Amino acid sequence: MNGAQLGALLDTACERLASTGDELRELDAEVGDGDLGITVTKGAAAVRTRLATLDADVLPNDVVLAAADAFGTANPSTFASLVSSGVKAGAKATELTDMSTAEVVAFGRAVAETIARRGKSAVGDKTILDALVPSLDAAEFSADGGALEAATAAAAAGIEETAAVAAKKGRAAWAGDRGIGVPDAGATAYLRFLEALR
Ligand SMILES: [Mg+2]
Repeated sequence: MNGAQLGALLDTACERLASTGDELRELDAEVGDGDLGITVTKGAAAVRTRLATLDADVLPNDVVLAAADAFGTANPSTFASLVSSGVKAGAKATELTDMSTAEVVAFGRAVAETIARRGKSAVGDKTILDALVPSLDAAEFSADGGALEAATAAAAAGIEETAAVAAKKGRAAWAGDRGIGVPDAGATAYLRFLEALR
């Protein structure tokens, strides 16, 4: 996949992702301030605007860096800032060239590592990492051509598993036991993004 193809794919995915804003706002509002809906809808729109400015011969790594920058600057939010800095660090560490499964998994590992370090969080804390990390494991060991489908299923399973516990990070942690049974909004945003990519 070249940069122009990646840009077109991300543009379509972001268009679809924006339609999940109401769901994400409601999930986030159950345990927090509900701002995740606007973070994702405004962020997705900003990514699309930025993608439209890129040259046709842009490299995949630069597409990812531009998208991350647009998402992170669209609005002030901890989620946007962590995702944006994580994706930028992942792109810098991996230098994406062809978007092969091996390359994307290595990129995703670097993203997860950065989010974990900057967010001082780990798998099991009920954050985006509970969907992201299992999705990378599943993609890495998936059959040829089945990486995205395997990643999506694993992300959904990870969210379901951690819905049963109380959050340990972010504003959702203040809700304590009230959050038990509520899927994590940030992890759900990632799942909806994978679904939009498919
Ligand atoms: Mg929030």
